[in-house]
Amino acid sequence: MTALRFLAAAVATAVVSPCLGFGIYGLLASQEPGAGIGWTIGYLVFDTILVALIIAIWWLAFRRTRGPTDCLGCGYDLRGVRDGACPECGATVN
Ligand SMILES: [Zn+2]
Repeated sequence: MTALRFLAAAVATAVVSPCLGFGIYGLLASQEPGAGIGWTIGYLVFDTILVALIIAIWWLAFRRTRGPTDCLGCGYDLRGVRDGACPECGATVN
């Protein structure tokens, strides 16, 4: 993970977080007597989407990307491997 990707994820989270705060506040407010169930369901869906979005942002930031020395099949680092096959998955090494 590069520092730039971490920074981008942090900024994206900072942008999304106030929306999630609004969503949680709305969910709590929808619990008041007389409020319809529709608002509760709506805020639950809204909050779930935002939590999933934040998880997706950090998954994108932390996921391992394949480098030029990594196996195309499994991502194993092939530096120093010379016998023509990946020791992890057996794929042919060029
Ligand atoms: Zn492999």
